[in-house]
Amino acid sequence: MPINLTAGTTAGTPSATEPSPAWQDSALCAQTGPEFFFPAPGSSTREAKQLCGACPERAACLAYALEHDERFGVWGGLSERERLQLRRTRR
Ligand code: SF4
Repeated sequence: MPINLTAGTTAGTPSATEPSPAWQDSALCAQTGPEFFFPAPGSSTREAKQLCGACPERAACLAYALEHDERFGVWGGLSERERLQLRRTRR
């Protein structure tokens, strides 16, 4: 499960007081390290996106990231820039 750098917790966990979303239990990224999902600036997100493509929780993950305005890392198969573009097209 990637670490949510904004909150300092795992992905989908906005705070210590809010329970983790149920979809996290079957998230494929829980089986990998956060380096795939929070690559260094300019690094490839390809590996993370490939894993997201096989994840059964992709839609829930992306919806969560959009709802919580997650700014960093790959969520639901989309990079930071791709989520920003998606938000703009939905307005
Ligand atoms: S879609 Fe990607 S980031 Fe989201 S839970 Fe699945 S593997 Fe993790």
